[in-house]
Amino acid sequence: KWTGLNELRESYLRFFESKGHLRLPSFSLIPQGDNSLLLINSGMAPMKKFFTGESTPPRLRVTTCQKCIRTPDIESVGIDDRHGTFFEMLGNFSFNDYFKKEAIPWAWEFFTKVLEIPEEKLFVTVYQEDDVAWDIWTKDVGVPESHMRRMGKEDNFWEHGSGPCGPCSEIYFDRGPEHSCGKPDCDVGCECDRYVEVWNLVFTQFNNDGKGNYTPLGRENIDTGLGMERLACVMQDVDNLFLVDTVQNIMKKISELTGAEYGADKKTDISLRIITDHMRSTVFMIGDGVLPSNEGRGYVLRRLLRRAARHGRLLGVKGAFLKDVVDTVVQENGGAYPELREKRETIRKVIAHEEESFNRTIDQGMAMLTEFIDKADSKVFSGESAFTLNDTFGFPLDLTKEILSERGMEVDEARFHELMRQQKERARSARKNAGADAWRGEGGAVNGLPKTEFLGYTELASAAKVL
Ligand code: ATP
Ligand code: MG
Ligand code: MG
Ligand code: MG
Repeated sequence: KWTGLNELRESYLRFFESKGHLRLPSFSLIPQGDNSLLLINSGMAPMKKFFTGESTPPRLRVTTCQKCIRTPDIESVGIDDRHGTFFEMLGNFSFNDYFKKEAIPWAWEFFTKVLEIPEEKLFVTVYQEDDVAWDIWTKDVGVPESHMRRMGKEDNFWEHGSGPCGPCSEIYFDRGPEHSCGKPDCDVGCECDRYVEVWNLVFTQFNNDGKGNYTPLGRENIDTGLGMERLACVMQDVDNLFLVDTVQNIMKKISELTGAEYGADKKTDISLRIITDHMRSTVFMIGDGVLPSNEGRGYVLRRLLRRAARHGRLLGVKGAFLKDVVDTVVQENGGAYPELREKRETIRKVIAHEEESFNRTIDQGMAMLTEFIDKADSKVFSGESAFTLNDTFGFPLDLTKEILSERGMEVDEARFHELMRQQKERARSARKNAGADAWRGEGGAVNGLPKTEFLGYTELASAAKVL
């Protein structure tokens, strides 16, 4: 049964309203009063305080559709069928109210009764020690054991940063053997695209202090996360997340602007999907007030925009085009996220400005890289060149590394970081000498600041976990 993404969102939220939940709008992508995360990456993240009992929720049962960003997934984007740096997460939450006995049968009811997903397509995993969840699935719900799996901590224990966490139970959709990697042991939980994890039911019973120390929360909470685009992908029976109705409309616009046809060539498809994804994340980020900069969230935004611009170049685009994708992203998402409509002009301006500034130097930077790649007598790109690319041509280290790694080459990162450190030091002493003058105007102070290096997504992610 084909159902549009917007309809599916509505039917989920309505279903949980009928189970006594209060529907709340999505929270901002910028975490409020939480330094453990750079960007909101799940439905529960903005509600940690309700889970710990630190603050009182408006109701003990809440349901949302939360905008999420997960830059650690960036390497899968456009390559596999199911990851985006931006996605929406549907969720139903219980703050020390109902627990597994209700949450599990409701999830099953929504999938098999409301959406009428055939039971034989669904598989369920539980945390290896969670016999309670196992029994509810097999006895109360009646899922045959052949469709059940017990999994270890890395798969079925949910935590992101510090705060509430706990064992979980996940629902997978079997897309059929034609999507399998073909390995003899390919089964639920395999990294390939046959069994797609769609819904994670988390039973948050513990608190992680951020240093890996777990203590019982003293509360029994439910936190579920159902991938909106993944659900739509399954319901619409399309190959990947980018072919879901609303997302596909954005990709079509990009095809039109770049002249690149989807489905004709593997590399072109990857670029089209990457640009589509990055335009979704950046439009939503700017809509929530993030601006390009050399640090933190602003750097994530800049990095995504520059990566999108580079993929535009790979598709043969000469000028700026990303700004012309904004209206389509707003149009496809403005119904559920009215803030995008309100901020449309700002979003366009910010993207146009960032794109134009990178466009002024991208060709020179690419020429420098191409020359090295063509004439290389070494596989290592010098730290000096990577520094120049960053400092003069606006190529973040990660972008340089990505381009080189496509040719099996690498960067002398130690030297790069040393040069960055020296530059920072020079700027620091220059600022000292400038004294109070540097603070005269905000612009002046900002211009005097050194560029801050980007730590890379992986490091950001682990930093976010450690903090
Ligand atoms: P996966 O194992 O596929 O990376 P996950 O276990 O990291 O997913 P959860 O943290 O359990 O994901 O998030 C809940 C749900 O959100 C997932 O079951 C999935 O449907 C969806 N989801 C997670 N990451 C992404 C992503 N990068 N893009 C789209 N949907 C996602
Ligand atoms: Mg993941
Ligand atoms: Mg998973
Ligand atoms: Mg999961």
